[in-house]
Amino acid sequence: MEVFELTTMNDKETSQFAARLAEFLKPGDVIALEGDLGAGKTTFTKGLAKGLEVNKTVNSPTFTIIKEYKGRLPLYHMDVYRVADAFEDLGFDEYFEGNGVTVVEWAHLIEEQLPAELLTIYLYHQGQEQRKIVLKPTGPRYEQLCKEIF
Ligand code: ADP
Ligand code: MG
Repeated sequence: MEVFELTTMNDKETSQFAARLAEFLKPGDVIALEGDLGAGKTTFTKGLAKGLEVNKTVNSPTFTIIKEYKGRLPLYHMDVYRVADAFEDLGFDEYFEGNGVTVVEWAHLIEEQLPAELLTIYLYHQGQEQRKIVLKPTGPRYEQLCKEIF
């Protein structure tokens, strides 16, 4: 399967890329974010929120699991790092099928509950401030989306 890659040299570049991607997003889009602690998942989400014209500051929702923000489209920000088990159903479906954009940090931890089609974005440390960002679309909607962006 085709993947799309870029390298960013600092957090601002990651944020700017996410903000640009946000302009292409539609209601019901789901983005899975993967990467080690400090790779930039939350930084990416903050940029995406900016691109969705969210005015509030987006924080890491580690202790709340799901946070909702108003923007051009609603943003549902999930961090499922602390979900106790992969099958614990916290009503994720309602978000995935909602009118907003869902971003899930550590998405593989709830793999069984993820929608069949989504955009997975991997962030890899390549040094203090350098990150490799790999986009892997699953399904025609997300393949199209990647082609529009790159
Ligand atoms: P995660 O949510 O994956 O744990 P965060 O976004 O909370 O990661 O933290 C990433 C940290 O790395 C931030 O302090 C950010 O400023 C820093 N950083 C440095 N370079 C980059 C980069 N190129 N992209 C994203 N974050 C970066
Ligand atoms: Mg985070």
